[in-house]
Amino acid sequence: MEATQEIVTAVQQAGVTGGGGASFPTYVKLQAQAEVVIANGAECEPLTHVDKQLMIHHAPEVITGLRAAMQATGARQGVLGVKGKFKEIIAGLRAELGGATDITIAELGNFYPSGDEQVLVYDVLKRVVPEGGIPIDVGCVVQNIETLYNVTAALNGRPVTEKYITVIGAVRQPLTVKVPLGITKREALDLAGGPTTPDPVILDGGAMMGEVVGDLNDPVTKRTKMLLVLPYDHQLSVKRRTPRSVFDAQAIASCDQCYMCTDFCPRYAQGHAIQPHKLILLLASGVPLTDAQMAGAMLCCECRTCNYACPVHLSPGDIALNIKRDLVQAGLKNPYHRTTEVDPYREYRRVPMTRLIHRLDLAKYDVAAPLTAVDVQFKRVRLPMQQHIGMPATPAVKVGDTVKVGDPVGEIVKGGMGTPIHASIDGVVREANFEAVVIEAN
Ligand code: SF4
Ligand code: SF4
Repeated sequence: MEATQEIVTAVQQAGVTGGGGASFPTYVKLQAQAEVVIANGAECEPLTHVDKQLMIHHAPEVITGLRAAMQATGARQGVLGVKGKFKEIIAGLRAELGGATDITIAELGNFYPSGDEQVLVYDVLKRVVPEGGIPIDVGCVVQNIETLYNVTAALNGRPVTEKYITVIGAVRQPLTVKVPLGITKREALDLAGGPTTPDPVILDGGAMMGEVVGDLNDPVTKRTKMLLVLPYDHQLSVKRRTPRSVFDAQAIASCDQCYMCTDFCPRYAQGHAIQPHKLILLLASGVPLTDAQMAGAMLCCECRTCNYACPVHLSPGDIALNIKRDLVQAGLKNPYHRTTEVDPYREYRRVPMTRLIHRLDLAKYDVAAPLTAVDVQFKRVRLPMQQHIGMPATPAVKVGDTVKVGDPVGEIVKGGMGTPIHASIDGVVREANFEAVVIEAN
């Protein structure tokens, strides 16, 4: 096993970022000193299959990546957090671990959002991350399964040039597939046989935390985890197209302050000062969005569990996350940093995944999406310089350069936090600017 600094450097140079969707640079997390590294295999976004497929087909790489993360952070304990219902996956992981004692498996309940890292840390270790805090505040580093797979690849000299994604919903052949970074989302949909519905609405990231894809020519990036294809008139498509002014007005007119949204909020259940029903009350009272009374919204993790909880189908989660974004934009800092205790009723206020899927009218799309090998030579990729949290990369190539898969085409700004970007196909650079590098195959 490599020395700590070698692991961090290899992961940084390979451009590894959090595979759960946020795309935070992994090398930064690996520089912390931790007691425990938790591998996040909860995969709680409904209908996602990437991490399950990786645990089935690439368990050795995931475990090697977890051990490397433990070594880098000095953690003596590693935990694989996997839903208990996935008996075969757990059996496969146990077989791979043999009699090892440095890594254990925590069997998680089938709830949403069990993959939220604060929820996961409590479920696994019974430690409560403080308000506005992160897992390292309680001695943990949480890494997504695909991230750990990529850590192992980085240690073997392979940078991140591909992404595993699930394409599911109203498509001919739902699947999980490995694609080069930078292909279009339309090409990704084609791999699943294309939509089976006219005017589909595509949620990049899934039903709960995903965002509507505005342009199918947009590239698959390190942030892409799933493309959920829905009919135009599906309840989620309609909700996501509803303008903010409309769902704000609906909430002001119809919210009866029943508190159900707050009762089911996973961060409120940690004892944190986020109460979506109160935000609606403040909206109705005409309190300016950036008023300090709104500051509890800064503790929102954007999971939209509260939308599910609302008996009259309002959108308290969208209201909370929009207020949070307004506050951040206005430069306000989170004022809440208390150490808290979980709500004593936490366990009775969890959202069962099967109920959620039915409530969201997704049961007909709840099918297998097996990892499928495809043999397609992609002709063109567009690699944005910003596909991670932190500073954008800067182009490391110029128009006309010939590149091979794995060559760096974007580099980290000196002294800044960010990750490099690598060519995902062999070819010639056709565009290179601070937005993106475009490569066309020869
Ligand atoms: S989206 Fe709703 S449930 Fe989720 S953290 Fe924010 S307020 Fe709580
Ligand atoms: S659950 Fe719905 S109706 Fe009840 S307080 Fe929250 S937003 Fe209002």
